[in-house]
Amino acid sequence: MYGAIEAGGTKFVCAVSDKDLNIVNRVEIPTTSTKETMTMVFDFFNKHPVSAMGIGSFGPIDVNRNSNTYGYITTTPKKSWRNYNFLGVMKEHFNIPYVWTTDVNVAAYGELKRGIALGKNSCIYLTVGTGIGGGGVINGQLMENFGHPEMGHLLIRRHSDDQFKGLCPYHGDCLEGMAAGPAIEARYGKKAFEIPADDRIWEIEAYYLAQASVDLTLTLAPEMIIFGGGVMKQPQLLPLIKSSFTSQMNNYVKTPDIDEYIVHCKLRDNAGITGCLLLARELLTH
Ligand code: ADP
Ligand code: ZN
Repeated sequence: MYGAIEAGGTKFVCAVSDKDLNIVNRVEIPTTSTKETMTMVFDFFNKHPVSAMGIGSFGPIDVNRNSNTYGYITTTPKKSWRNYNFLGVMKEHFNIPYVWTTDVNVAAYGELKRGIALGKNSCIYLTVGTGIGGGGVINGQLMENFGHPEMGHLLIRRHSDDQFKGLCPYHGDCLEGMAAGPAIEARYGKKAFEIPADDRIWEIEAYYLAQASVDLTLTLAPEMIIFGGGVMKQPQLLPLIKSSFTSQMNNYVKTPDIDEYIVHCKLRDNAGITGCLLLARELLTH
């Protein structure tokens, strides 16, 4: 059996699969305190023992194997999880091999191997929800080196009609500060899903997400950029991103056909878990 933990800021999803990666058990646990949440995680895997596990965690996390704090969740605003030795605690309870990376890296991996980017060697995955996170796979490898990408905090150029200050506690008007769900809602004083589809805000939102896509294209030249997360449930948003991307890129570099380049995720809520299980299996088979 293989194990998976998709550790999100709102909830943890734990799953176990058989050797063909069919999910046989799955549970969702609210992210509260480390003590409460992790007790339930241990219970689940005590009941369903596995021989290897993939963990994709919210971050920032330490993925640098040479670091003293490898396996830790580091500078998160969630107090109970700050400087938490997540991987260390897991290893104490279950002495098995682990893959340890970000929630968005595992989602990218899932989409690459089983989802919308099937057959490709690279993709970027951006989630636009309570925060903005981005990860990816380049040449078949998860994107991490000294650390992992934090694409949600890309510094962006402001839209000329947008005076919003931005909500990021570190940067104010970075991508997440300007374009995550809470930023849309703070400008508007309404839930994002209540804002009409033809409101100008979606054009501004698309401008920022397209700008990030341009920057990622120019730096990484991926084969595909995949969007997921709650805010992307607005069906008008992806077409607006694509047209803003085309106009901001202004034909400077050639990219794949836009409809096959900037896309919605396919596995939805299962992308992360799928990625974790695939990575767990690879630990034992390679
Ligand atoms: P999280 O980021 O916490 O994992 P989500 O990806 O679901 O969770 O993102 C939650 C955010 O997405 C909230 O800010 C919420 O307002 C926004 N959101 C959820 N559903 C919609 C929708 N249908 N349209 C626009 N925004 C939405
Ligand atoms: Zn920021």
